[in-house]
Amino acid sequence: MKPNINFCEGKMQKNLMSNNIEELLNSFSSLIFCFFSLCLWHKLDKRFLQLSTPIAMNFIVGLGSFLFHSKGIRLFQFLDEIPMILTISSGIIIYHEELHQQDKLKRIPYNFMQSLVCGLQTITIIANIYSKYFYIFEVLFMTFCIWICTLVYISSPPANKYYAKRTICLGFMGYGIWLIDQHYCNVYTTWFHFHMWWHIFIGIVVFNIMELYRLNICNRKKIEYQIKIFLGVILDVTIQKNGNEKL
Ligand SMILES: [Zn+2]
Repeated sequence: MKPNINFCEGKMQKNLMSNNIEELLNSFSSLIFCFFSLCLWHKLDKRFLQLSTPIAMNFIVGLGSFLFHSKGIRLFQFLDEIPMILTISSGIIIYHEELHQQDKLKRIPYNFMQSLVCGLQTITIIANIYSKYFYIFEVLFMTFCIWICTLVYISSPPANKYYAKRTICLGFMGYGIWLIDQHYCNVYTTWFHFHMWWHIFIGIVVFNIMELYRLNICNRKKIEYQIKIFLGVILDVTIQKNGNEKL
């Protein structure tokens, strides 16, 4: 079965690439998801175990995306896109739980939210497998993205809202870049490798969202932390192993 979407690098350079890899830069830039997942896994301790599912799913996204861009097979497209949905939906569930711990969004029962996430997740996966129209998946995927961005913003304490805003802006810039790759592909734009930049931007966004989640827990439990910013956008949170912690 053929994929229901193509990318500019593949369309413009099909004949230039080796037979082994269809989209060279799109393939290798996918590994940024694996790299950031390993960084997050290294930072994980028992206080942040809720993050283990989204981190593991994000690692699979990287592998699936690498295979999809290098081979252009529908099966690998599923391996790229279904873990994407699972990463975001597991993120939504843990962010909702965190908001309830913060006494926010109490009017919306946690169980109801969980069921809603699972229902929409199932619809999105079925649409992804059976629909030949990519835009159906795109709309459902964007719904998940807007949902998690809203939760990230609401849950961040005032001191960290600046980082949340920057991360959300980067996410929407990434989507803009993805759209340019899809709709304005020609011999000139192909040299900018827009889809490769989408991978890099979204890799950073996912990393930052997980770091913002750790910041929320630190603020709520009064755990001491330090924030460093790399390249103006990458949020690196260092947390004391045995800090002043209220459990
Ligand atoms: Zn991709």
